[in-house]
Amino acid sequence: MIYTELDVEQLKDTGCYERLKNLQVFYDYVNNFLSEFDERENIRCIEACGECCKHYLPDLTIVEAEYIALYLIQTGRVEEFFSRCEKDINYCPMFNEDSNYHCSIYPARGLICRLFGSACTLDKNGRAIKPACRWKDEEKTETIDATDDIPISSKLGAELENINGGNMETEPFNQAVSKAIMKLEMLLAYTGNRAQ
Ligand code: SF4
Repeated sequence: MIYTELDVEQLKDTGCYERLKNLQVFYDYVNNFLSEFDERENIRCIEACGECCKHYLPDLTIVEAEYIALYLIQTGRVEEFFSRCEKDINYCPMFNEDSNYHCSIYPARGLICRLFGSACTLDKNGRAIKPACRWKDEEKTETIDATDDIPISSKLGAELENINGGNMETEPFNQAVSKAIMKLEMLLAYTGNRAQ
C-alpha cells in the first residue's frame, strides 16, 4: 500500500531523483512491515501520547531531509516550517500539541521516527529485543528470535545507508530540512517546476 503521496517526479531530471524515489519505495515497505509486525505482536502506543516526540529532536540524513523538504514545498508549508523553527523549544518543531496525531509531517517523517517504538533492536546474542515504552507502567524487556519477518532497526538503517549512497552523515532536524528546502527550491526553479 502506498502511504506516501509525494510527487518525486517533479525532480526527475535532478541528482536527487533516484534516491528520493528509492526512499519512497523503502518507506512504503517499512510502513507495511511495521504495521504487520505491530499487529501480530500487539505493539501499541498509548493513544494520543506524543511523549517521545516531545522529548526528542531527530537527526536526519540527506535523503530524509530532502523528502521532508519536498513534502513541505508540495503542501505549501515552507513558511510554517521556518516559523516553527523560531520557537524556543528543544524538541521537534513539527510536533503539534493540539492534535491527537501530534506529528504534523507524518507521511514524510524520517526513518528513526517510523522505527521508534515499533521495530526491534538486537541484543549481544543476536536475539531481537521487542520495543518497550518508557511511558507505560508495564515496561519490560522481552526477546524473540530475529527471524526475517521481524523488523530490526540496524538492518533497516543499513538499507537507508544504501539509498544514501553509503553516506550516513546526519545533521540536526532544523538545519538539515532548512538546507534541503533551499536546495530543492533551487532545483525546482531550474527544472521549471517551482510551486507558484
Ligand atoms: S518528525 Fe514527527 S514523529 Fe518525528 S519527532 Fe518530529 S513530530 Fe515526532
